[in-house]
Amino acid sequence: MLAKWKEKFRQFMIGRYGVDDFSKFLLGAVIVCIVLSIFIHSMVWEFLVLLLLVYSYYRMFSKNITARYKENQKYQLMVTHLKQLRTHHFYRCPGCKQKIRVPRSGGKRVEITCPKCKTKFIKKI
Ligand SMILES: [Zn+2]
Repeated sequence: MLAKWKEKFRQFMIGRYGVDDFSKFLLGAVIVCIVLSIFIHSMVWEFLVLLLLVYSYYRMFSKNITARYKENQKYQLMVTHLKQLRTHHFYRCPGCKQKIRVPRSGGKRVEITCPKCKTKFIKKI
């Protein structure tokens, strides 16, 4: 009986996206939100949690794999960026708006040279 259901589920999942890092994050967020709803008594909040849950499942069962893959890549890029915020500063070049990543050094004033247009600017890093 269980094997039959497993097989049915497997067939249902064919050509569907499935679970990735972003959906794990979304489901984690849903759990946190459900815990928070012990303290937040609001219909709007519950509705938002439900929306988040529906969105997580929508992504897992989606057949638009390219779009979901791109979302996951954006998510992973964001996570990498957030991790780097602890060790790096991010600046925009005043000349060409290029994003520049500089390792933190505890408030020293440093002259930064843009790798793209060679504009120099001073920042405390
Ligand atoms: Zn520049």
